[in-house]
Amino acid sequence: MKLHRLLAAAMLSTVAASIPAHAAKDISILATGGTIAGSADTQTQAGYTSGQVGVETLLAAVPQLKDLADISGEQVANVGSQDMNDAIWLDLAERVNTLLATKKTEGVVITHGTDTIEETAYFLNLVIDSDKPVVLTAAMRPSTALSADGPLNIYNAVAVAADIRAAGRGVLVVVNDDIHGARAVTKTNTTDVQTFLSPERGLIGTTLYGKNTFYRGPYRAHTSGAEFSLKGVKELPRVDILYMHANFSADIIDAAVANGAKGLVIAGVGNGNMTTDSQAAVARATKAGVAVVRSSRVFSGATGRNVETDDDTLGTVASGELNPAKARVLLQLALLKTKDAGKIQAMFDKY
Ligand code: ASP
Repeated sequence: MKLHRLLAAAMLSTVAASIPAHAAKDISILATGGTIAGSADTQTQAGYTSGQVGVETLLAAVPQLKDLADISGEQVANVGSQDMNDAIWLDLAERVNTLLATKKTEGVVITHGTDTIEETAYFLNLVIDSDKPVVLTAAMRPSTALSADGPLNIYNAVAVAADIRAAGRGVLVVVNDDIHGARAVTKTNTTDVQTFLSPERGLIGTTLYGKNTFYRGPYRAHTSGAEFSLKGVKELPRVDILYMHANFSADIIDAAVANGAKGLVIAGVGNGNMTTDSQAAVARATKAGVAVVRSSRVFSGATGRNVETDDDTLGTVASGELNPAKARVLLQLALLKTKDAGKIQAMFDKY
């Protein structure tokens, strides 16, 4: 029987005083870079470089981790997450799946840059075949800064990964005392330490110096309940995001297709809308077998099917609550299985 079924009762409890908060103990930390591993020449300057210090240094800054779990660290990459890419995602997913398939590893924490953490989290949420906790964390201030936020974020992330109540809730993002679900979380401020919000669905829980409170589980299918497999996958299909605006040049849509895009995400205005010329270009794309998803450049709310744009006629897919960056991730994975707009829409309705 799946671990998540065994844990269903624990998952749904808001306060579970009888459940040991740190029953899981063997936690692997996979470092990928980001500001959390960034460094600057002084403690008080805005300028810095991401992905400079290694996993040992990150862990050495938080000796209190030994009170929470047995920790082992690995360096998977060391990049600013603006350079996160499909190749690192495939390596990371393979490593997480391999670790979690062992009896020994009871949870994984991934350190990451804040810029694209929501994309990596959502990607892993769809391809990790385990109910054990997977927690991403990050920081807005580099490791060398005055009041660096990384060490406490790592501490809290390990506390969540070591908490059996985190199992079965999908991939989580723990930053600044908040526990977010991978599907809902988004970065909302370029510099503020409190940058992450889950505007549509709210938090999964909170954590205060490693004391966790869980409110709910994620609403959509994820991890062991998702249909995506990366077995034998060497690369992901190219999917481009096109940002709609007044006076948009529709020939960019044709150019993306000519350059080899297998899928497009329109970051539409309002409810995923686009110019009349763009609709004609999108119709050309879908006719040529390119999958097109309509999302929105608007911060919150869902992009609905057939509202102002006729998806049935255009052959397009509506992204629902997924923002353009996450719609792109799901479309990449969907294209590993099908090009059929109806089947892809069903995946957007499910995940
Ligand atoms: N550019 C950085 C990154 O995503 C920003 C950060 O981590 O806060 O790696």
